Amino acid sequence: MKKICNQCQSEMIEDCKVESFGGVTISKKGKGVIFNTEYATVKAAVCPSCGCIVLYTDKYVGFTKSLS
Ligand SMILES: [Zn+2]
Repeated sequence: MKKICNQCQSEMIEDCKVESFGGVTISKKGKGVIFNTEYATVKAAVCPSCGCIVLYTDKYVGFTKSLS
């Protein structure tokens, strides 16, 4: 599924690498259980028309199990 820019509806350039000296990770702790924490590598999509940047991950399954 292609990503479309929210600002100008252009097709975004996906799979851009996100770099940080501290390392960027997104995590979601399981319900009170530290060992269930899900980690995912952060990627970015950049709009070539307006410069808008969206961060996303391919490993989102573990984040959708519970909405609470
Ligand atoms: Zn745009």
